[in-house]
Amino acid sequence: MTQNQKPEVLRELKKILIIGSGGRENSIAWALAKNQSIEQIYVCPGNGGTADFEKCINLKPKSEDDETIILECQRLQINLVIIGPEVPLANGLANKMREAGLTVFGPSKDGAQLEASKDWAKTLMIENNIPTAKYWTTHSKEEALDILQRFNQPLVIKADGLASGKGVTVCETIEQSKEAIKDVFSGKFGAAGNKVILEERIEGPEVSIFALCDGEKLIVLPPAQDHKRLLEGDKGPNTGGMGAYAPAPLINQQDLKDLTDLILTPTLNGLIKKKIKYIGVIYAGLMLTSSGPKVIEFNCRFGDPECQALMPLMGEEFASVLFACAQGELEKAPKLTIKNVCSACIVAATKGYPESPQKGNQININVESNSSLQVFHAGTVIDQFNNILTSGGRVLSVVAQGESFDKAFDLAYNNLKKINFDGMHFRKDIGYQVRHISS
Ligand code: AMP
Repeated sequence: MTQNQKPEVLRELKKILIIGSGGRENSIAWALAKNQSIEQIYVCPGNGGTADFEKCINLKPKSEDDETIILECQRLQINLVIIGPEVPLANGLANKMREAGLTVFGPSKDGAQLEASKDWAKTLMIENNIPTAKYWTTHSKEEALDILQRFNQPLVIKADGLASGKGVTVCETIEQSKEAIKDVFSGKFGAAGNKVILEERIEGPEVSIFALCDGEKLIVLPPAQDHKRLLEGDKGPNTGGMGAYAPAPLINQQDLKDLTDLILTPTLNGLIKKKIKYIGVIYAGLMLTSSGPKVIEFNCRFGDPECQALMPLMGEEFASVLFACAQGELEKAPKLTIKNVCSACIVAATKGYPESPQKGNQININVESNSSLQVFHAGTVIDQFNNILTSGGRVLSVVAQGESFDKAFDLAYNNLKKINFDGMHFRKDIGYQVRHISS
């Protein structure tokens, strides 16, 4: 190939459709829009942010059933579909789309089990010598209580299936473990709690690593750290995530290479051994324990809000890389450049989040976005008068980049002051591990 010849995968990528409505999907759309070849990005159903920027529009088909969306993709001649959230992946949307001839970034139903069944993921880890916490799979309260009695230490109780990030209880005491076992078997998580994982409690800093996979090969993105708890000091209930930053300095280039060899490559190989052509993101949530890194969870898609921190680091080749993955031809993709800056993401949530988020409040945004400052929407809609209103718990995030984390976080926090809505709240200590906070 000569210097000015475009790699083969670039040629046909003009129209992309992203499934989802969160901050993750807003940030992916923003990163893809940087690529000059892309003419149009549709987000289905999208949010108040994706309704309103260059090249990007929301797609609202008459009905959101899979068949209608597939027909819309065909009508619009979409070259690439990116499926953002885990639920449609676990339900097999990628399978149906591929059967209909669409090119999709996101694993099929079999591969999505990596996230949709903790037991399945644990088995894959054991089969492939991937380090993880000791565990037991149980199907009844009695069996679980019996294991607790024999192990005689507080456990982590996990519903096997998808539970919107709420299915995990980390217990401090044996008494708490008993309660959590009773709770998880009470039907609180529906079918997700029919099978339950009891896990040994491990300790250490947490970090997330990501691979983009084409079914056989992978490339690795910078590591990220997020903050799951609602309140400062990592207190309060677990949420979808209140902020994140990347690249996590906890892991250097050599560590990332080692973690790829120890975790990401064996995971992909394990999937291949099961005859699963995994196309999409492998997200591994790790705990760096005193006896080495251990996987605490897999996700089959980008994390939210880690994705919002990561996307501004992606070079304009990002779209071509996802397209090449979706075609099973990662080797044809141009090299993905990663901006050498620190990226900070702070989530603003609404009153009542996570239990009962208040909706319908007007949002005022006086931030001028630029190449190092972004506002990514999540729970927002635009009404008939063009007002932006809150429509979900995590409303939006402000993301900023700088040459240090202090600069990136200062820029993000200073601009968060230019946004307001009734009940707005956010954590002031996001990234405390990498900042020099004076107060
Ligand atoms: P998960 O949804 O599996 O990521 O779990 C949510 C949170 O629970 C993680 O981010 C960890 O902080 C914590 N956690 C999960 N598994 C364990 C474990 N085995 N030991 C200690 N903490 C855990």
